[in-house]
Amino acid sequence: MSVQALRRESPSVTIEQLRASLELERAAFMRDGPPSYRTRRHHLQLLLGMILDHQDRIIEAIGEDFGTRSPDESRRIELLPLILGIRHTIKSLRRWMRPSRRSTHWATWPSLARVDYVPLGVVGIISPWNYPVSLALGPLTGALAAGNRAMIKPSELTPRTSAVLAELISKTFAADHVSVATGGVEIAQAFSSLPFDHLLFTGSTGVGRLVMRAASEHLVPVTLELGGKSPALIDRAFPFDKGVSSLMLGKLYNAGQTCIAPDYLLVHESRVDEVVERVRAEVANMYPRLADNRDYSSLINTRHRERLLGYLDDAREKGATVLEINPGDEASERFAEANKLALTLLLDVDDSMTVMQEEIFGPLLPIKTYADLDEAIDYINAHPRPLAAYVYSDSRATVDHFGARVVSGALSINATAVHFAQDELPFGGVGASGMGCYHGFDGFETFSHKKAVYRQLRPNLMHLVTPPYEGALKDRLI
Ligand code: NAD
Repeated sequence: MSVQALRRESPSVTIEQLRASLELERAAFMRDGPPSYRTRRHHLQLLLGMILDHQDRIIEAIGEDFGTRSPDESRRIELLPLILGIRHTIKSLRRWMRPSRRSTHWATWPSLARVDYVPLGVVGIISPWNYPVSLALGPLTGALAAGNRAMIKPSELTPRTSAVLAELISKTFAADHVSVATGGVEIAQAFSSLPFDHLLFTGSTGVGRLVMRAASEHLVPVTLELGGKSPALIDRAFPFDKGVSSLMLGKLYNAGQTCIAPDYLLVHESRVDEVVERVRAEVANMYPRLADNRDYSSLINTRHRERLLGYLDDAREKGATVLEINPGDEASERFAEANKLALTLLLDVDDSMTVMQEEIFGPLLPIKTYADLDEAIDYINAHPRPLAAYVYSDSRATVDHFGARVVSGALSINATAVHFAQDELPFGGVGASGMGCYHGFDGFETFSHKKAVYRQLRPNLMHLVTPPYEGALKDRLI
């Protein structure tokens, strides 16, 4: 069945239902107040149990939405980091919830000050199709840990997964606690206009702009987890055989449909041939054939595949060399049937080509050459700030220089994409790749209000001095 047919079939909430859900959740939040540590832990355990008990069903639904989505990748890079993230949150929650003591000013002694992390209320979560479960339930983990209620709007491009999420959430949580709103773009637009207490959006930079505009109407604070072109630089002296496997894994997980996949490589001009050969060998190792290989994922729909083929035509016309890495030597009709695309390297690229302007989000990998490190760094910094910057180098000086000069959401050295799974690291972009962050404590903090609490123990100096001042303490305080 086509994605379009499924989309028509998948149920959609109405705009009135959206508003009613928010009212219901907000009323329950006001009625019950902030949940205790034990209650929050219980909520997180419910979420964890829901995922563990229904893993196979979730993986099957994702597979159906994609056509082919490697079940092993779904388990390993979609569900595993999510499960580990929830466990980490359960383990750390008591510590995170502790008020943070602050010192007070001498002129107001004797007094105490602290910061309490209090829930915001109802959090909205808008998620994309590429990791449709972890990018919906990952933010939910932080929102529940911080004691909030939540509404999730998953992507209309993964209707089966969205339907499974909606069903599981409604069986696990009360309707006034967590709800899922399925539907198309009109519902997404209405969702982003609701007066939430916080809105986390994961998706494209273009839609992120619209979401922020809609949220501004009610001054809803936003966390924007966006996309962009993440570069991977291979240092001139780096023994590339050491890094190629992690780099190609990070690129080809989910057929390149990963926000932190390397979008393009920066390779020293003397090493291009060697890098191409290593990539070819590594891909042949990992994927001896592509079209009927369940480890090699499909693109989400034909429109997306045509967009990528359009990038290739445009680059070819403008003088790029296009190298398809097709280890099984399969005919292109087989790829089209499976809605797949082979990894395709592009050499001799420049910024006039669409592939160097737009986020690729698929298995195309341009290789841009550089003569010296600063030239490569200047190239990255002359473009919108990326979500991740990768550097493969054994030189401390190179890594430090690259890390200090490149402005990016994250810096990853000699590894690709695994920083996403570090529970102690914030995950988020900078500039056009996003604002704010979540994961672990940073997610708890994002979804909490840091309430300043001040307590006077006895009257202080400021209270003793009242009008008429008549120059009292003049010159003594400052
Ligand atoms: P998208 O922006 O098209 O859609 C994301 C979500 O926004 C969907 O749920 C969709 O229904 C909703 N939406 C669509 N139009 C809307 C509107 N006008 N107002 C409000 N909501 C609207 O993104 P996508 O194609 O689903 O995902 C791919 C993009 O997401 C890529 O750019 C990728 O880099 C980015 N991404 C970022 C991260 C991250 O963590 N930073 C993770 C995954 C994907």
